[in-house]
Amino acid sequence: MNEKLCLATRLTHVGSDPHKQFGYVNPPVYRGSTVLYENVETMEALGRDPLRKMLPAYGRFGTPTCRALEEAMCEMEGGHGAICTNSGLSAITTALLAFVKAGDHILVSDSAYFPTRMFCAQSLSALGVETEFFDPRIGSKIALQFRPNTRLIFMESPGSLTFELHDTPTLCNLAREHGIVTLIDNTWATPVFFRPLDLGVDVSIHAATKYIAGHADSMLGIVVCNESTYPAVRTSAIRLGQSAGADDIYFALRGLRTLTTRLRQHERQALELCDWLMQQPQVEEVVHPALPNHPDHAIWRRDFRGASSLFGVILKSFDRKDVNRMVNSLKLFGIGHSWGGYESLIIPTHPEEFRQCPPWQSAGPMLRIYVGLEDLDDLKADLTQGLTMLPSPPE
Ligand SMILES: *Cc1c(COP(=O)(O)O)cnc(C)c1O
Repeated sequence: MNEKLCLATRLTHVGSDPHKQFGYVNPPVYRGSTVLYENVETMEALGRDPLRKMLPAYGRFGTPTCRALEEAMCEMEGGHGAICTNSGLSAITTALLAFVKAGDHILVSDSAYFPTRMFCAQSLSALGVETEFFDPRIGSKIALQFRPNTRLIFMESPGSLTFELHDTPTLCNLAREHGIVTLIDNTWATPVFFRPLDLGVDVSIHAATKYIAGHADSMLGIVVCNESTYPAVRTSAIRLGQSAGADDIYFALRGLRTLTTRLRQHERQALELCDWLMQQPQVEEVVHPALPNHPDHAIWRRDFRGASSLFGVILKSFDRKDVNRMVNSLKLFGIGHSWGGYESLIIPTHPEEFRQCPPWQSAGPMLRIYVGLEDLDDLKADLTQGLTMLPSPPE
């Protein structure tokens, strides 16, 4: 599509060709395993396409709706090829398995999503791949961790629990000089706020489950690759039998249409709530990279086009029991994992239990807040009520 058009405009058209769809604006949802070929010659030609990109092929290799979403994601992130998988985590594991073999060493950000960490430290280690966690703020010192067998760097920026940013261009330049592949979990920012491939990242991974599907009704992962990494990741997905659900793909494609609009509203609400929270006597610190007091704020300004609505709150040193009572008393903030839907969420978090580089220290108990699309005054009123459940703030 015309690169000169704004993202919001392009998002209203990508992946849809109404005049090939009987004039319907949205593409149809294809369901199926068997796909019939016109003749034996066509079947055999498709069988010779190692990346199974040609259609029709077989249900598991992706429907036309799946290809439409993959093309839309490539367009948004400047990728060469994208691959849909059945969850965000499977997008991560499929991408990692595309590059590693026994005897390899990999560098994984200490701030990465906990299940990513577990896959690396346990499943990959059982396959003979050694994971070393690195300080998300390591910058150019990453080069000191490189070994002859270092295969890849896995980043997440910001970390979705502790919100540190990486100096992504620096890590990528050094990696490239050493032939090391770079992968990033870009779920927090989405392609609307961050385009990692433009900064030199090879593979950008999304839990489309979150903002992209956007309504807490879907599980889906998407891997966006540059030209050199695409064949390996597509092959990994084929070998692993990755196959995303037809409805989930459709929901993600539909979610893209309103993604910029939703994110701008999430951003506005979250930043205003952050300001409000910082004024509450029970709050020690609000941890969000778009706030000027965040240690990585300068990187955020340099690399990101906006900020999403998931952030951390560190309370004064209250007892966890009192904090739980406060969280339990909230009416509008649901207690639940995941995020990216229209509904606000809150969970207590415990990064000190697993962080190693560096160990996590905070003045008081930490919460993670996700700001949805409810009216902001109603959300503030809910939190005001909740904060009264805490004893008078300790000095
Ligand atoms: C939720 C999440 C995932 C995993 O996505 P699922 O679809 O739940 O498997 C991966 N990375 C981040 C940062 C997430 O928040």
